[in-house]
Amino acid sequence: MSRIIPYLEIEKITMHGYGLGYADGKAVFVPFTIPGDCVNVKVRLEKKDVIFGMADEFIHTSPTGIIPQCEAFGGENACGGCDWLMVPYELQLKWKTELIRQVFEPLGLAEIVEDIIPSDRDIHYRNKSFLPAGNSNNGLYFGIYERYSHNVVPHKKCLLQPVVIDEILKSVEDFAHTVKLEPYNEITYKGILRHAGVRINESGSEAILILVTRSGKFPFSGQFVRMIKDKFPFVQGIVQNINRSISNVILGEEEKILYGSPCLNDEINGVRFRIHYKSFFQINHSVTSKLYQILRKELTKEDIVLDAYSGIGTISLSVAGSVNEVHGVEEVAEAVDDAEHNKIINKFNNAWFHLGKVEEMLSNLIQKTSFTAVIFDPPRKGLDLGTLELIAQHKIGKVLYVSCNSMTLARDVKIMQNFGYVIEKILPFDMFPQTWHIETLVKLRYDEN
Ligand code: SAH
Repeated sequence: MSRIIPYLEIEKITMHGYGLGYADGKAVFVPFTIPGDCVNVKVRLEKKDVIFGMADEFIHTSPTGIIPQCEAFGGENACGGCDWLMVPYELQLKWKTELIRQVFEPLGLAEIVEDIIPSDRDIHYRNKSFLPAGNSNNGLYFGIYERYSHNVVPHKKCLLQPVVIDEILKSVEDFAHTVKLEPYNEITYKGILRHAGVRINESGSEAILILVTRSGKFPFSGQFVRMIKDKFPFVQGIVQNINRSISNVILGEEEKILYGSPCLNDEINGVRFRIHYKSFFQINHSVTSKLYQILRKELTKEDIVLDAYSGIGTISLSVAGSVNEVHGVEEVAEAVDDAEHNKIINKFNNAWFHLGKVEEMLSNLIQKTSFTAVIFDPPRKGLDLGTLELIAQHKIGKVLYVSCNSMTLARDVKIMQNFGYVIEKILPFDMFPQTWHIETLVKLRYDEN
């Protein structure tokens, strides 16, 4: 039996979407709670100074809360997708700005953190969903992993994605029931279907469907393709991706194109993009569009720009029209192929894309080209010290750092402060409404004096 902490008053909100209260001289972190809630907490993990628990019972809920419109949200066996479906959107925005202020407070930068840029849509905003297959008495279903576990919480509809993604996934489920397609089992390594993924463009005119299987086996795949084409004519590509590994990684190395194209086409601020199903593309169109507009405004016609972690060239090609030249560096070959293609269809001749790891390519690139500005958009782990040192040694004047992890962002910004950079702007973006996640742009400038 886990220990219960009774009547915990939630006082604050923290990173990772926890509500925070205090008991027995320890900080108690409880997901799916907000300030004003009073809860009995079931202890999940107890350390010297902190406790992590789950709300066992709500004594009373915060007067600021609203009723979540999703049956998989909160409580026992909650879906791990959303954190704040019980929080009005305006309040989510306020909290996110405050969280970023807290992160930059120790660097003396809280004051320059601007109010977060909101998302045009606070639900149905995701253009991509990859959902694991679970197994129930009724057969295969799709869902999202429960918080802290790999139990798949069933999802008939997910508020974060367009309704049509629910419909496509429902059709995959129905088909799986008809032909008795078994879900992959992580413990026995048996079964066939691991994940289903849908990517859709902003206008809804094109989508691609990806089924991840454990082996090359996919019975009745011809029938499956006909069913999807019939029901969803805008699905212009169906891919069977084969993941034979026992790891948690979603996609495998092998694939069979079952129908059409493995790529999707979309447009941001008038720039067209082809997106391979393996390539990164920001999931929230309206916020991405605002972010890229701001990046463009920060640069001038004289700038020679390095776009590190360039993906399919989204940022490079969004700024190419406003700068002298731009060089992207990206390690995923499919993404670099997309970038080269996107450069051509958008008729830019001042953009170059380099395949490889930023940390390995940077030194050579920096020697060959006199960059005046760098845009960083790394994965969650942020930048390595060598990369930051090179930028500082070459005294590159302007650094625009986009990050989805404010902890590693603040760590790297602090290093750059020590190298003599001044921080001119910190601007959060609400790329992921209903969750605690925040995208942030920091503008740094090298100060000669
Ligand atoms: N700037 C792009 C992509 C950002 S996501 C956009 O806005 O769409 C981060 C990208 O970095 C991904 O495409 C990922 O494949 C790539 N990446 C991750 N680690 C890398 C590394 N060490 N070197 C180069 N690219 C890397």
